[in-house]
Amino acid sequence: MSATVTEKAKIVVNPIACAAHGVCAELFPERITIDEWGYPIIDPRPIPEHLAEHARRAVAACPTLALILCDADEP
Ligand code: SF4
Repeated sequence: MSATVTEKAKIVVNPIACAAHGVCAELFPERITIDEWGYPIIDPRPIPEHLAEHARRAVAACPTLALILCDADEP
């Protein structure tokens, strides 16, 4: 289920859809870094309100729609 970032939310990546563009790490460096192959490493902690805009921007900018905002309590 999708979540808004005003709720307790986190970002997850669909590794099949991700094409290693790295755009997400540029837009949300507080929680996303890139591994040596260009794939994102995402901090699984809930996103605080002051980072919500960065999270939304990163999800919206992913060219392959591989990023998903979901409830932080989901496994
Ligand atoms: S922007 Fe999307 S496709 Fe590019 S590395 Fe991030 S999740 Fe993968």
